[in-house]
Amino acid sequence: MGFKDYLHLIADIFLPRACIECQGLSEEILCQTCMEAIQAKPKWLHDDYVYGLYPYQAPIKTVLKSMKFQSNVTAAKYLAHLLSQYPLPFPPDALYLPVPIHPKRKKQRGFNQVELMLSHTSLDYKSNILHRITYTKPLYELTAKERQHELHLAFDVSPNIPERPIVIVDDIYTTGETFAEIKRCLHKNGIRNVHGLALTYA
Ligand SMILES: [Zn+2]
Repeated sequence: MGFKDYLHLIADIFLPRACIECQGLSEEILCQTCMEAIQAKPKWLHDDYVYGLYPYQAPIKTVLKSMKFQSNVTAAKYLAHLLSQYPLPFPPDALYLPVPIHPKRKKQRGFNQVELMLSHTSLDYKSNILHRITYTKPLYELTAKERQHELHLAFDVSPNIPERPIVIVDDIYTTGETFAEIKRCLHKNGIRNVHGLALTYA
């Protein structure tokens, strides 16, 4: 156990836990009321190949931010639970590929948040197939057109991908450009059976 873990342990003993959304008392990451506010509204997006599960709004938005920017593993586990709660409309032999982040960003953040989330599900995923080869600006700052430009040729695919249906996984779907660019990249490498899964959609 590292120093940080000890600090967390001490904090757990002396500080009452709070819901990260409403700050109300809670043993879990969210209190019961906030948990119940998270309702899936699954829908097909982007020419019907990306399946989105939850609208991107509080409290799930808060949990996502906590996973991403505070390296909150409890948040990742809770999001994995939300991802696994409903049957997914993909072939049973599908291989799930997290949207990659650039090695430089991975070094800053310490992890790829989608990979972290998938590691707490029973979905069969591989994180060494898709690669991000260019360092892109944070996409939320960009318009759709700028995103397209920024993401063009941003990804690469490892050779010898298993011949299985592929599901690209991301935490947020906004304009769909990330999915589209990765799909293009997979197509170029002869992979035709490509789907997408977004935990949330904006
Ligand atoms: Zn709450």
